[in-house]
Amino acid sequence: MRPHIAHNLERLQRRIRAAEKRHRRPPGSVRLLAVSKTRPPADLLTALACDQHRFGENYLQEALEKIAALREHRLQWHFIGPIQSNKTRAIAAHFDWVHSVDRLKIARRLSDQRPPEAGALQICLQVNLSGETSKSGTTLAELPRLAEGIAALPNLRLRGLMTIPAPSSDPEQQRIPFRRLRQALEGLNRSGFALDTLSMGMSADLEAAIAEGATMVRVGTDIFGPRN
Ligand SMILES: *Cc1c(COP(=O)(O)O)cnc(C)c1O
Repeated sequence: MRPHIAHNLERLQRRIRAAEKRHRRPPGSVRLLAVSKTRPPADLLTALACDQHRFGENYLQEALEKIAALREHRLQWHFIGPIQSNKTRAIAAHFDWVHSVDRLKIARRLSDQRPPEAGALQICLQVNLSGETSKSGTTLAELPRLAEGIAALPNLRLRGLMTIPAPSSDPEQQRIPFRRLRQALEGLNRSGFALDTLSMGMSADLEAAIAEGATMVRVGTDIFGPRN
């Protein structure tokens, strides 16, 4: 077994609960997504034994192997990596959530390819707030149209927004992109959406994200240790 994982999870849950309290968020309003890319199934089982059920994966082939190896356990799988068209069928078949949708073409394929018995696939739109065209994510300007297009797709349920900001070590600077993402979500909700998910905050900036309304933080390194 890997005792450091249990210890890290406990410490991380304390960090999340403390940030909720400090920013007057209801207890339990921030969920933890354990980012398990590059980790072996045994690491996920250790986390599961600590009541961690939600796992995020970036690399499809690796994820499919883990999903198969762990299929007798009741895990919730979140796809958080870049999506090419040729991967949508397997993502639609094997995942519960996708956080990294940034094009209508990909969303249409996910909806078309979602097996009917699986129920709706839960979707977050990835937003690129830094303006770097090399990065994944839709722009704020394109967001309303994309959200409307996705809301019309039958087998997807649009839940919210996700972002990966440029790293910063200044807690006040860290809050700026998270605030903009929250404001974007509030803007969509004012125009008739009912989005409830802000997927933002990682190991180094989860307090800033929780201060600005994160409902799901995505953490790998601080649970499982450094990646090779
Ligand atoms: C890897 C990854 C994370 C977790 O990063 P850590 O630094 O390991 O905590 C979160 N979100 C996304 C989209 C990632 O790819």
